[in-house]
Parts: sequence; structure tokens; C-alpha cells
Amino acid sequence: MSKGLFLDRDGTLILDKHYLADPAGVELIPGVVDGLRRARSLGYKLFLFTNQSGIGRGLHTLDDVLRVNARMEELLGLPHPLFTDICIAPESSDQPPVYRKPSPRFIVETIARHSLDLTQCWMVGDREGDIQAGLNAKIGAAAVCTGKYDAAGWATLALPGVPVFPSFSEFAATLR
Ligand SMILES: [Mg+2]
Repeated sequence: MSKGLFLDRDGTLILDKHYLADPAGVELIPGVVDGLRRARSLGYKLFLFTNQSGIGRGLHTLDDVLRVNARMEELLGLPHPLFTDICIAPESSDQPPVYRKPSPRFIVETIARHSLDLTQCWMVGDREGDIQAGLNAKIGAAAVCTGKYDAAGWATLALPGVPVFPSFSEFAATLR
């Protein structure tokens, strides 16, 4: 069985520019390349799991999101395909959720499809929805401080048993 990392995009891998539609605006968060390289070398399959409610709100299109993703992968410069699968949830928060985090649906389906060992899977992200999606799927959930919350902000949310890391690279350094 394989190990899996489910990774939020905005605020976790790249700076959260809020409804980013222009690939020129993509900026990697420091340490992400080394963290992803480490995870791959340890045998983790990588899955990108991103809520993009700007699509549902009509602020930008799926093509915009795909162009931003492509620019992110270009900047990462890691061997292709970097991600085994990608889920872009387009629903806005007032539309019925299908894959939108905190729904665990993508994680649950992916674990089954790729025969992942759920005791060796993590969801990593910068918002409560990321953490809840991981917990709802009964995998590990880890919080990073490169997006919505700093360490003090996460502390006020009091998510028991959820480790908080300064950034993805510090999380990746704990992987075995
Ligand atoms: Mg995020």
C-alpha cells in the first residue's frame, strides 16, 4: 500500500493571493520544493486538493486555475507528473458541496482508487476546511502557518491532536 499526501494549494504551496487568476502572480512559499522532493523520495504519492470558489462565484474560470497550477509546477521544477491526481473544487460556499473541503470525498475516493494506507496519509493546509477534510477522512491532518493563520491563530481554534508547523517544509521534515 502507498503513502499519500493531500496538499492544499493557496497558503500552503503558493502564497494565497485570493482568487488568483493570473499565472504571473504565482509565488512559491519558501522551502516547498525541498519538502516535496523529500516526500517523493520517501515514496509518498502527492495529491493536490484545492477549493477554488472563485469559479463558482464567476470571478475566474477553471482554465485560469489550470494555468496557475501549470505555472506553479513550472516554478517547482520537479519531475512530471508531480501530482498523481488533482481535485479542483469549484463550488462557492453557498452552493451544495460536492468535493469542496471540508468534504472528505476526494480523499476517501483517492485512498480507494490508489490503494493508499490511510494510516500513512496526511492532509496539509492553512485553513480549518483543510484540517476538517483530513479528519473527516480519518487520515492525519497538519496545519501550516503560511496562509490564513499564524501559530497563535491556530491555537485559538483548538483543534485537538492537530500538529501545527511554521510551513510545509517543516512538516515534510517530520515524514519518515
Ligand atoms: Mg489554503
